[in-house]
Amino acid sequence: MSFSAPLLITAKRDGGQLGDDAINWLLGAYQRGDVAEEQMSAMLMAIFFHGLDHRELTTWTNAMIASGERLDLSGLSRPTVDKHSTGGVGDKVSLVLAPLVAACGAAVPQLSGRGLGHTGGTLDKLESIPGWRASLTNAQILDQLESVGAVICAAGAGLAPVDRRLYALRDVTGTVESIPLISSSIMSKKIAEGTQALVLDVKVGRGAFIKDERSLVLAETMVALGAANGVRTVAQLTNMDDPLGRCVGNALEVAEALDVLRGGGPSDVRALSVALAEIMLELTGIDDDPARHLDDGSAYALYRDMIRAQGGDPDAPLATAPLRETIFAPRAGIVQSVDAMKVGVAAWREGAGRARREDPVSARAGVIVHVRRGESVEVGQPLLELHADDDAHLAAGRAEIAGAVVIGEEPVDAAPLLLARVDASR
Ligand code: URA
Repeated sequence: MSFSAPLLITAKRDGGQLGDDAINWLLGAYQRGDVAEEQMSAMLMAIFFHGLDHRELTTWTNAMIASGERLDLSGLSRPTVDKHSTGGVGDKVSLVLAPLVAACGAAVPQLSGRGLGHTGGTLDKLESIPGWRASLTNAQILDQLESVGAVICAAGAGLAPVDRRLYALRDVTGTVESIPLISSSIMSKKIAEGTQALVLDVKVGRGAFIKDERSLVLAETMVALGAANGVRTVAQLTNMDDPLGRCVGNALEVAEALDVLRGGGPSDVRALSVALAEIMLELTGIDDDPARHLDDGSAYALYRDMIRAQGGDPDAPLATAPLRETIFAPRAGIVQSVDAMKVGVAAWREGAGRARREDPVSARAGVIVHVRRGESVEVGQPLLELHADDDAHLAAGRAEIAGAVVIGEEPVDAAPLLLARVDASR
C-alpha cells in the first residue's frame, strides 16, 4: 500500500495517530529514498511535539528493527545480557561491567556507540588503547563471546540501519530529546543485537539528556519495548547531577576503569558497577557476587583478554595530555555540588568529544575532578584539572568550567546514586 508523506506529516502535526501500515510504509520509503530528508525532519518534529502512543511506538520500533539484520546469539553456551546507558559524564561503567559480568559466567555483547554531545562514548574511550579496534564482523563477535565472554564493539551498519539516518537527522533538527524517539532508537539496536536480557542505566539530573521526572517515563517506555520483544529488561534510574568518578575524558576514564577492575577506584564507580552487575546476573539466573571478581583479579584478567582479542595492548601506556591547568578553590568551605553538565561540556570542548559526527576525538583531553559534593576544602586547594592538547582547546574548556564547583557553608550529604528501579509489568 502506498501513502502520501505530506498527508502523514499533517496528520501527526495535528495530533492524529498513524496506522501500522502507514508507519511501515513511511520508514520503508525513507530507507529507499522515496521520502525526503526534509519530510522526515518535519515528521520527527511532529512526533517531538505529539509523541507516539504505545501501539505506534511498538510498530515504529519494529519497523526500525526490520530495516536491518538481527544477530543470532542463540547458539552460545552462556546466557547473554547487555547494559545500555542513556549517556552520562564520567560514565566508564561499561568498561568495568562487560568483563565483570563475563567473569561471573554470562556472555556480554556490548554493541556500543560513540560520544554524543557532552556525554562520552565507550568506543571513543577504548580507542585510546593502542591497537584496539572497534569494528568486528558478526562471526568475530560470536567467536569472542564464546571464547572470552565479553565484546565491546561498534554496532555494525547492518543493525537497525534506519536509526543511523534518523539519529543524524534528529541531531541537526532539534529532535533528540523526545522520549519515543530516544526509546525506539536505543531499543531497536538492542533488540536487533539479539541479547536475551538487558539492563538500562537511565541517567537523571543536570548531566543527563532527560534531566527531570520524564526519565521515569523514558525508563518505563524502554522496559515495555524490551518486554514486548521478548528481551528481559530492567531499568535502573541513576543520579547524574555530579560527574561519575573523578575522571572525564577518554584515556583518563580508561585509567579509572582499570583502577576499579583491579579492586580500587572511586567508590561511586565501583558501587554503580556492582549494582548494575547484580541486576544483570539476576536477569540471567547466575548466582554470584560480582564484587568478589573485582577484588580477586578475575574481572581484570578477563578485561585483558577482551582487549587483546580486539588487537589492543592492555600493557601499553595510555596517552597523557601535554597541557594541564589546575583550578583552585577561591575560598574555604564545603563543596555543595559539582555540575556534571559543565564538566562534561568542558571536556567536550577540550577535544574529548566531537562537534560534528566525522570529527576526530582526542584520547588525552579531559577533566579531573579533585573534590566531591560534601567534602571540606581549604582556600587554594585544587578543585579541577583541565587536560588538553593545545592552548585553544585548553581555553575552550576553561570558558565552560567556570562555576562548576559550588562552595558554601552548609554541610551536604553525598547525593544518592541509585534512584528508582523499573521492572516490566506482568
Ligand atoms: N542513544 C541512542 O542510541 N539513541 C538516542 O536517541 C539517544 C541515545
